[in-house]
Amino acid sequence: MAIWNLGSINADMVYALPHLPAPGETLAANGLDRFLGGKGANMSVAVARAGARVNHIGAVGSDGRWARDRLTEYGVDTRYIAEVEVPTGHAIIAVDAQGENLIVLYPGANHALDVRQLGQALASANTGDLLVMQNETNAQVEAARLGHELGLTVCYAAAPFQAQAVQAVLPYLDFLILNEVEAEQLQQETGLSAADIPVRHVIVTLGSKGARYLQQGCEPVDFAAHKVQAIDTTGAGDTFTGYVLAGMDRGMPMEQAILQANRAAALMVTRHGTADVIPDLREVRDAQF
Ligand code: ADP
Repeated sequence: MAIWNLGSINADMVYALPHLPAPGETLAANGLDRFLGGKGANMSVAVARAGARVNHIGAVGSDGRWARDRLTEYGVDTRYIAEVEVPTGHAIIAVDAQGENLIVLYPGANHALDVRQLGQALASANTGDLLVMQNETNAQVEAARLGHELGLTVCYAAAPFQAQAVQAVLPYLDFLILNEVEAEQLQQETGLSAADIPVRHVIVTLGSKGARYLQQGCEPVDFAAHKVQAIDTTGAGDTFTGYVLAGMDRGMPMEQAILQANRAAALMVTRHGTADVIPDLREVRDAQF
């Protein structure tokens, strides 16, 4: 089996500044680091590190070849990542000496995906493969509908949260994953509580409190988080989702996949960084907690 990920690819440009700029201020940065980011790319790397096959469907500009190469190097199949005439999606992240930040996000190529390209990619999918999306690309609804028609298991990570985006894909979903804040927003904006979401498998991640699994027609199952020294929670949710998907792909019962994802995400929050530092299966198994 295989996993198909319609996902964003971003260059995270992190500028170290003495303080955050005021309106109209010009400020020289002390340093610049460039990282591979975007929820989609993070998830693909997590799936690959968890030992499963993943085909990334997405787009970069000519300035993003390095990002595609990095994904390839990390074991992601990148043949369905198109090069388009729009700059690669990027985040300009200014961080001051206290760690306070300011972020400008430019979706760029992530919103320039050709729907025909999606069809061509999924033509190679097999019934029972998993298709995952997040809310950082265009063509989500087309992908969900097509995936459903093709008999794929359709998964959606509801981030960044938009109630409308969730509602548009909901009829096609087999699996929805969202964090606590997103679950609250969904309830406030649509009246749907996590327990009432009409999707077979729902997972609500609860940060340092762990995660809750709601399977339609069953009692919810809670998973406590591992006790770790959290230093950077970026990418925790993406790591969790990638590991759950890899477990499902390997035919694990959902509870077992969640146990492994919970370990992987706990390890992830002990590290600085995103895609580059997502732990692999051996590290997750060997972690002492
Ligand atoms: P997101 O990153 O999408 O906001 P969460 O904050 O809910 O998602 O975190 C996702 C998962 O990461 C949690 O379900 C848990 O397994 C793990 N996690 C997050 N924060 C911690 C923490 N402080 N200690 C241990 N595990 C954590």
